[in-house]
Amino acid sequence: MRRFIWLMLLLLVFASACGESEATNTANNSPDPDQEKTQDKSDDVEEKQKAEKDSQKKEEEKQEKVNLPEEDSPEEAKYKINDEDSSVVPLNDGINKKVVLLTIDDAPHKYSLQMAKTLKELNASAIFFVNGHFLDTTEDEEILKKIHKMGFEIGNHTYNHAFLPDSSQEEQKKEITSLNDRIEEIIGEKPKFFRAPNGANTDFSTKIAKEEGMIVMNWTYGYDYFKPYMDADKLKKAMITGKGPKVDVPYSLLKPGANLLMHDREWTAAALKDIVIGLRDKGYEMVDPSLLQTIK
Ligand SMILES: [Zn+2]
Repeated sequence: MRRFIWLMLLLLVFASACGESEATNTANNSPDPDQEKTQDKSDDVEEKQKAEKDSQKKEEEKQEKVNLPEEDSPEEAKYKINDEDSSVVPLNDGINKKVVLLTIDDAPHKYSLQMAKTLKELNASAIFFVNGHFLDTTEDEEILKKIHKMGFEIGNHTYNHAFLPDSSQEEQKKEITSLNDRIEEIIGEKPKFFRAPNGANTDFSTKIAKEEGMIVMNWTYGYDYFKPYMDADKLKKAMITGKGPKVDVPYSLLKPGANLLMHDREWTAAALKDIVIGLRDKGYEMVDPSLLQTIK
């Protein structure tokens, strides 16, 4: 009998122990306080991140506001292209006259990107006059975008490099306007400068170019398209001195405001760095085309 009582007692203790554990388990089913804490923490983190994002956004908006007036009012023009001889003329006294304008025609064929990189490394500005027939592929488009993003001015050199005096008015118009549209499609803006192939403008093409909002320019000297100067060393010397005795220019054409014509060519690309350095050694600054007066 005593053994039975002991057994009953033992069972009772066991049963209460089980009940307790069940109760504990039930308690465990209620939301875990630690979990709640974790939840709180993640809420905190979210709040914090949101606050950070908000303040970042505000900061960005502030910066945008600060930048806006600058973008809306680009630097004042300091130079203009002389209608008569395409030279660069300062608009006021006190502006450095000893400048030259670098221009590269027939871009972006084979060497334009390389030439742009060379100029960029030297921190020298230039206008790349582009031909529409060099913008056929996506690769060409990417190259033009790159050159533009590097800060170079993109000019219009007609769609097919047409000799305008031999073209009908309809053709001339198309040569000019279709390239402007194409360039705008690629870089998001229309050219501000026009150079006719071979420098051969007509009254009509000049009128159209102006109507399209472009300044028309030829150049004052360039040698890379003459056979005797299709060589980096010879070209370098001619461009730096301004003299081309092998093509009957025994005198120097280098003077303040000179508008230098170069092309997307192998020898020009090879000579470009030395040309810039040589001109700088002579005290010339490469004028930034964004400082040239444009048609409003
Ligand atoms: Zn050309």
